[in-house]
Parts: sequence; C-alpha cells; structure tokens
Amino acid sequence: MANATWSDAIQCPKCGLTGEHMPKESRQVGTRDSSGNRIHGVTPGAKLHKIYCRNSRCSWFNTNWTVQVNPDNSIPEPDEHRRPRQYAAPDAALAEQMRLRFDAIEAATREGGEIRR
Ligand SMILES: [Zn+2]
Repeated sequence: MANATWSDAIQCPKCGLTGEHMPKESRQVGTRDSSGNRIHGVTPGAKLHKIYCRNSRCSWFNTNWTVQVNPDNSIPEPDEHRRPRQYAAPDAALAEQMRLRFDAIEAATREGGEIRR
C-alpha cells in the first residue's frame, strides 16, 4: 500500500474509531529540530497533525497520535510498529505452518509409526 487516506489516518490505531483532529496542535515540519539537529524520516515541509482518541472505552482514550501530511497532500503509512494489524498476515501464515506440522506429527503418531525427519 502506497499512501493512507486522511480518513484512514485519523482512525484510532487501537479502537478504529475516528479521532478528533486538533488543528491548534498541528505544526509544520522543518528539517531541523529546535536544537538544530537534523530530523530523520520526515519530509521537509510536511505537516504533522495531532489526532486524539475520544473513545472512553479505548486504551488510547485522550491519547494522541501524529498524522503526517506531505506538501503534495500524500499521507505516508505510519511506522509498522504502530500498526499491529500489519503483523497479522505473517503470524497467521506461521500459525498455519505450525498447525500443519503438528497435524503431520500427530498423524504419524496415531498410525503407530515413528516420526521421520
Ligand atoms: Zn481509540
């Protein structure tokens, strides 16, 4: 997936409900921070928007996350570690592989044979 959409990006990563955009807390990104250090991973001129989850049942209630909007209005995908569901596919594939292996071992054991390696 290349770019997220704004409506996707403002959904809470935890509960999936649309968060509240706080325009006053959004800011333009420079290439250097206040101490003059180069900021990595951010496109110069991009804007960072603060989004808050307002779902009181969510573990991220009143917690904010940042949505980056580039100067060309594209929204990069958030870092993978902030999107746990991106790990679902490899985990499911691994689980299926493990299940097949256990099934094979179980079948071999049931037939009274030795498990061949
Ligand atoms: Zn939430």
